[in-house]
Amino acid sequence: MRGRLHSIETFGAVDGPGIRTVFFMQGCPARCLYCHNPDSWGMDGGRDIEIKEIVHWAERGRPYYGSKGGVTFSGGEPLMQGKFLTQAIRALNDVGIRSAIDTSGTYVDEYTEDAIREADLVLLDIKHPMSDRFEIIAGRKQETLFELIDIINRNRKNVWIRNVVVPDINDTPEDIELLNEFIKKLRYVDKVELLGYHTMAVNKYAKLGLTYRLKGVPPMDGAKLNELRKLVTIPSEAVSQVVLGE
Ligand code: SF4
Repeated sequence: MRGRLHSIETFGAVDGPGIRTVFFMQGCPARCLYCHNPDSWGMDGGRDIEIKEIVHWAERGRPYYGSKGGVTFSGGEPLMQGKFLTQAIRALNDVGIRSAIDTSGTYVDEYTEDAIREADLVLLDIKHPMSDRFEIIAGRKQETLFELIDIINRNRKNVWIRNVVVPDINDTPEDIELLNEFIKKLRYVDKVELLGYHTMAVNKYAKLGLTYRLKGVPPMDGAKLNELRKLVTIPSEAVSQVVLGE
């Protein structure tokens, strides 16, 4: 079976625990205001990849994984290729390499539960706890996120929550309070990461002839972001693990 791949990152250190090989899968149904991979949106981009190539690349990184590292499937939205994802993760499980799925919760289908069941960890990007603002940020309805949360809980999967903080969109203490409440819907949260919005993707949009909708919005202020990180309360130990300076 073939999947559609955007790119591969070796020695990834920010998309899950330890050192990881990250497969950025092609295709995403969302259109987030701050997406830094707009070239991953269409299924016509990227290239084909077979399971054996996934295993090959994953094996190359194995000496560096240690007790925590492994593979992360990111995107794009990897759950758009749920059948391939499930088979790829099974193949990695067979050779003893752990897998995480980095998802935006914007896509669920009949293959999603299989993929989640096979994975060791889910990195769940919460665009915004409130449905109206979720829709503004992601260009998608929030319902699939709730479906995915049910699947994650049902399969007792551990989760890292991620939330991109954007000036004047979700950068108030009230936004973090809403996030704290929302996170209670998940049964096994290991970590919560607040990531600061940055403007590094602006040139990509220009090259692709796309409009950058956050033009003029400055990168998230680091000091303010750190203050917001202090307000993350669930779970309390997560705050000390927050990745700084992104
Ligand atoms: S879910 Fe991720 S890849 Fe898809 S549009 Fe949003 S930020 Fe971009």
